[in-house]
Amino acid sequence: MTSLHVLTQAPDEVACGTGVTDGRGRAVRYLRMSVTDRCDMACVYCMPVGYQGSPRAELLSFEEMVRVAVAFRAVGVRTVRLTGGEPLVRRDLVSLVAAMSRAAPGMDLALTTNAGLLERFAGPLREAGLTRINVSVDSVRDDDFRRITRGGEWRAVRAGILAARTAGFTELKTNTVVLRHENLSQVREIAQWALAHALVPRFIELMPLGEGAALMANHVPWAEVRDALGDLLGEAPPDHPADRGPAFYLPARGGGRVGFITAVSNQFCDVCDRIRMTAKGELRACLASPDGLSLRDVMRAGATDDELVAVLRDVLAGKTAHRFTESGFGQAPGVVMTGIGG
Ligand code: SAM
Ligand code: SF4
Repeated sequence: MTSLHVLTQAPDEVACGTGVTDGRGRAVRYLRMSVTDRCDMACVYCMPVGYQGSPRAELLSFEEMVRVAVAFRAVGVRTVRLTGGEPLVRRDLVSLVAAMSRAAPGMDLALTTNAGLLERFAGPLREAGLTRINVSVDSVRDDDFRRITRGGEWRAVRAGILAARTAGFTELKTNTVVLRHENLSQVREIAQWALAHALVPRFIELMPLGEGAALMANHVPWAEVRDALGDLLGEAPPDHPADRGPAFYLPARGGGRVGFITAVSNQFCDVCDRIRMTAKGELRACLASPDGLSLRDVMRAGATDDELVAVLRDVLAGKTAHRFTESGFGQAPGVVMTGIGG
């Protein structure tokens, strides 16, 4: 990747901005960047059956993604998490990570993946500058994993997680979307597996997005998951859950911690410090927001680096609060998780 066009300053001279505060006083520090809307699995709560993904020309190129990351660094973003769809199905993802880490020094580069292909890529990703990985794990049983992901293989995912550990990733988390009739009865087993491998298990409330919108009868509030985990959890700190971000954590009795992401029952807008970009380059100030500004169009219309940064400042300053409820109020029409990036 020698021909990448990024901000015209040399990396060390690019302003590492101090951050834009939005209308609710939140500084945006974290960008979730979807690199593809395709996936090699089709989880029942996420991917619509038969979803083909967008034509390649509509997606941002790697060059454009690096340019966006550098511009976000200039407005104070400190973490870029690559997501999708399944980021590992985008060809040459390793070279994107390497180019981003060169062009945006100091940026924390993370990945959210289903890990089906991670065994092969864990080492090269680590060498390219990736720092952290989150892996979707909705079951640790072969048959149930295959059913929930509609074709995923737990063995491959497990091998991918273990390869990441071998490659030197110390900060590994698992993400489990809890569905009442699918895996609520397995949350203890999933947490035990993750904790035994020194991972941080996290349980996510089903959101009314993508296929999830039709499954909200299966929604499980986080407190029920906590109860199902029973004595696996230790005493909660006294200030819990006021001390929370998009994820909050409880200690596990035998060491480690367990996380909860409670977008529906326990909205966390006041502490949300993130913004999202779809694989087509649409900026979404919130996962629940139907409004998006096309950075792809801005860049392809010839915006200078300064103009791109100015656009980002405007969008960040206008970030608002989301409106998810169990009945789906506030759901963005047509929002597909594989497009927006989870
Ligand atoms: N394919 C990668 C993976 O599965 O980790 C990255 C993309 S996936 C869209 C990102 C995250 O979104 C995953 O942790 C997934 O479980 C979560 N997700 C997808 N649909 C969801 C829904 N309707 N409600 C809650 N979480 C969802
Ligand atoms: Fe694919 Fe991830 Fe969505 Fe599952 S959650 S269908 S692995 S994008």
